[in-house]
Amino acid sequence: MAAHQEKKPSEERNRKSTQNGTRTSQVQWGRAWEVDWFSLASILFLLMFAPLIVYYFIMSCDQYQCCLIDPVIDLLTGNKYLSDIWNKTPALTYRAAGIYTLWVTFQVFLYVYIPDFCHKFLPGYVGGVQEGAVTPAGVVNKYEINGLQAWIITHVLWFANAYYFHCFSPTIIFDNWIPLLWCANILGYAVSTFAMIKGYFFPTNAKDCKFTGNFFYDYMMGIEFNPRIGKWFDFKLFFNGRPGIVAWTLINLSYAAKQQELYGQVTNSMILVNVLQGIYVLDFFWNEAWYLKTIDICHDHFGWYLGWGDCVWLPYLYTLQGLYLVYHPVQLGTANAIGILMLGLIGYYVFRMTNHHKDLFRRTNGNCKIWGKKPEYIECSYMSVDGTKYHSKLMTSGFWGWARHFNYTGDLMGSLAYCLTCGFDHILPYFYIVYMTILLTHRCIRDEHRCLSKYGKDWKRYTSAVPYRLIPGIF
Ligand code: NDP
Repeated sequence: MAAHQEKKPSEERNRKSTQNGTRTSQVQWGRAWEVDWFSLASILFLLMFAPLIVYYFIMSCDQYQCCLIDPVIDLLTGNKYLSDIWNKTPALTYRAAGIYTLWVTFQVFLYVYIPDFCHKFLPGYVGGVQEGAVTPAGVVNKYEINGLQAWIITHVLWFANAYYFHCFSPTIIFDNWIPLLWCANILGYAVSTFAMIKGYFFPTNAKDCKFTGNFFYDYMMGIEFNPRIGKWFDFKLFFNGRPGIVAWTLINLSYAAKQQELYGQVTNSMILVNVLQGIYVLDFFWNEAWYLKTIDICHDHFGWYLGWGDCVWLPYLYTLQGLYLVYHPVQLGTANAIGILMLGLIGYYVFRMTNHHKDLFRRTNGNCKIWGKKPEYIECSYMSVDGTKYHSKLMTSGFWGWARHFNYTGDLMGSLAYCLTCGFDHILPYFYIVYMTILLTHRCIRDEHRCLSKYGKDWKRYTSAVPYRLIPGIF
């Protein structure tokens, strides 16, 4: 089997090359080959508890008006048993299964069968066939970028139905939220398991597969780098973007519709959540070609972390603010609403500009202007598995000179703004900022570890030039 041929004997895997004066493994710069006990413990924890965490949050809203403490108090005081909570939880229904199947099938159809036309008439939009980054095995994949088009078609149909056709209620997602959770879990587990089997028996590119020998680590972090079916169905691009991010704005719209149905009005906090998260989602699709150069696509393998995460974690936990506002309709004072809007927009500006500057810098190979000046950078080099040497540049100008991940800082400002729309009565809506802080800090560390393995001594020169990660002068 091709994938097995790729499993190298340990002495060969551990072969070191002296690159830029720093000892680095030739095959180390992708995902890890060996698993330390801390990674393994974290993975086992997530595999066991992440589905429970999602269930707990959604159940707390359904049965406890979004209060996270009351279920624990009820259980500890013997007021309720686990079986009482479980028995009150809506089960999987044929209706939810039908809705979910139709939804995913429709998104597959839009992704696979409708080539992008948006780039033909939208100035500045990059769509159609685009190239990804060089993989550790030296492969450059091509992608059909048509996410914006899928998002537009889906939302036009949604509004057409809400205002003209009335085939289904715009509250359909909220009304079936827990039965849909079971469907999302089924798909999440199915696709992660399929990806694992595929990695062993029929990988798309055997040279980009990684086996640690640890079943749980491989299941969680993935074996195949870019699993595909046929030439174009790319698992990572599809699952992150389509059932996950296209759904995000639809879910928020469904929450707004539910507020309208329950209270006869949509609160300004709900509008803020819809607008700020809508900008974030639209930004993602407008820049889908840029997404090909992010860690998700460039470095992460496709396993449970991305497969289940995109199907369940993202749509259920990234939309908690809107869900909370259905149960607690907060009407913000004008000054607070404007303050939150400004925080969200400034966060978005920082996030977008930082990402744009890196993209521009890399696309033009440094021949561009950042804040009106030619950018400064550090020259660096790295090697792919076959020993080919590549050259790259790390920019030290603009926001990239302030901190090594100032794009994350902007993202965190926006995340805080979403949470603040919900006021301070409950902690549930603040889960998002806590989670994003952990996710992005961990991502910083993970990315820097990888960059050190990839660039060696050059990366150390870069971290001396830009010493802070997220907040200049502090961290
Ligand atoms: P980055 O876009 O910051 O990409 C990091 C990579 O960029 C590095 O691995 C390196 O790759 C390259 N790089 C690092 N420093 C420099 C530099 N100074 N100059 C040029 N290139 C550099 O990270 P992510 O892909 O994680 O994030 C992209 C965006 O997505 C972020 O804004 C983040 O906030 C957002 N995000 C949002 C999430 C969410 O759930 N909402 C989750 C994750 C990310 P190379 O090997 O090419 O040198």
